[in-house]
Amino acid sequence: MSNKDVNTPSNFIRTIIDEDLKVGKNDGRVATRFPPEPNGYLHIGHAKSICLNFGIARDYGGRCNLRFDDTNPTKEEVEYVESIKEDVRWLGFDWEEREYYASDYFQKLYAYAVQLIKKDKAYVDSLSAKEIKDYRGTLTEPGKNSPYRNRSIEESLDLFERMYAGEFEDGQHVLRAKIDMAHPNLLMRDPTLYRIRKVPHHRTGDAWCIYPMYDFTHCLSDSIEGITHSICTLEFENNRALYDWVLDTVEATCHPQQIEFARLNLDFTVMSKRKLIELVDKKYVDGWDDPRMPTICGMRRRGYTPAAIRSFCDRIGVAKRDSIVDMALLEYSVREDLNKCAPRVMGVLRPLKVIIDNYPEDQVEELDAINNPEDPDAGMRKIPFSRTLYIEREDFMEDPPKKFFRLAPGREVRLRYAYFITCIDFVKDEQTGDIIELHCTYDPQTRGGDSPDGRKVKATLHWVSAAHAVTAEVRMYDRLFTVENPLAAEGDFKDYLNPNSLEVLRNCYLEPSLARAQPGDRIQFERLGYFCVDPDTTPEMQVFNRTVTLRDTWAKIAKKQAGRKK
Ligand code: ATP
Ligand code: MG
Repeated sequence: MSNKDVNTPSNFIRTIIDEDLKVGKNDGRVATRFPPEPNGYLHIGHAKSICLNFGIARDYGGRCNLRFDDTNPTKEEVEYVESIKEDVRWLGFDWEEREYYASDYFQKLYAYAVQLIKKDKAYVDSLSAKEIKDYRGTLTEPGKNSPYRNRSIEESLDLFERMYAGEFEDGQHVLRAKIDMAHPNLLMRDPTLYRIRKVPHHRTGDAWCIYPMYDFTHCLSDSIEGITHSICTLEFENNRALYDWVLDTVEATCHPQQIEFARLNLDFTVMSKRKLIELVDKKYVDGWDDPRMPTICGMRRRGYTPAAIRSFCDRIGVAKRDSIVDMALLEYSVREDLNKCAPRVMGVLRPLKVIIDNYPEDQVEELDAINNPEDPDAGMRKIPFSRTLYIEREDFMEDPPKKFFRLAPGREVRLRYAYFITCIDFVKDEQTGDIIELHCTYDPQTRGGDSPDGRKVKATLHWVSAAHAVTAEVRMYDRLFTVENPLAAEGDFKDYLNPNSLEVLRNCYLEPSLARAQPGDRIQFERLGYFCVDPDTTPEMQVFNRTVTLRDTWAKIAKKQAGRKK
């Protein structure tokens, strides 16, 4: 199948695959894999890799494996494995029964290592770690051969077997490839293939005390699984020579092609797992799924949809050069998806009490409201109107400047789905001077929000009936960092954490239909943004997260750019 049949935009990797298929390479098979190291939770950068690998398999009728790259026994945890599976599934991808672990190949990898020794292509080195480093040379100077490099094959075989048997301590010996200590690519200067680590592994327990290195493991795991295109990020460009050397030297029957692409960077955040772990461990954020985190579980909790993340990944494309993507583009994708599926409701986040003086004291009307103008099937609902309401504090000004068209003394506005009201008076707190209550009148002729005499008002406000309101906590999120690239800034990246990245509003009033909202539900509060129900919600207190504001700067930029092209 050519990828012209599908919606995903083409890219240089798909072009390579198209050409491979045309010349009948790999017998027409396409096999990819997503190979996370289970040493942290997945972030939006991983989502790009997931969409790329699983997307290619889907569009070419191939398959994509989920492979845990679990060769490092000290860092990996079962919690991470479970979270990774949950996140890939949530993004909408399925590895079927192909859940693999590099640690499942330890026996095979050991056999390959023995094979390399027997071919005189690997040797046991007994230099210390520091000596190995000193012998490596630099970019401008060649390295030096280890005095152990010419050990006999028999001696290396014997030592390697005893390393495996646990006879030596960490660091006493390593197994190294025998390539070229003067190679211009430093990674090819007799790289380490195995080291002794006397620590248990989360899957193999105490079975092994020698562990294979990434460069040895990754290519052979790909080969064992019959991968055709091994897609990775640019920092592995120099590793490709070693990838190919190992597979050529062991004469692997399957030799996948490694292809590098630029990793995703987003502004105003950090993506390295090490940095994210630091934020979690030192409690700068409230766990991996803190909605401010660039993690997939954080974005899920914040209310982002899998479809929005997938379309973001398609939109940014696949490049050969590193760049930093604007967070606004991700938010644009989120809005675009939520606009279609999130019902619109009314909620007041910073309430100001309004009393409609001429509205009967104990009257309640049920007014008709449209659930989603973008979705005709979403239908209608009733919302109660009564004498005492709440509106947004910022929708009233005692002494408005010229361009403020909302409520002010003597001014008339529309209440959404309800009536025109006119402000006739307000009450101030004597001590603070804050306005605590408005008095208004309503025009009964304007029911539903239309005036029979064609009278115009300049603003439509959202509101909630006080007696019927659901009280809620709403968590407002902003950028996690104050600078575009915290890692490039001077000093520690944590110095640039945004102190105002979370604002908790505890006295919000929502229309009664939200009493039944469940964790994960996504809605739009009219005029305010998209929100979703947080798992912290209890029967006593609804808790909402602001997913994204309504402001849509990217749509404007995109429109402008499209206009320019014409
Ligand atoms: P980090 O640097 O965040 O710790 P990593 O590369 O060590 O990430 P892995 O678990 O090794 O994380 O990554 C699994 C896969 O995801 C790899 O193929 C890697 O290239 C890819 N990947 C990781 N980060 C990004 C990113 N920012 N953009 C695109 N792909 C990424
Ligand atoms: Mg890694």
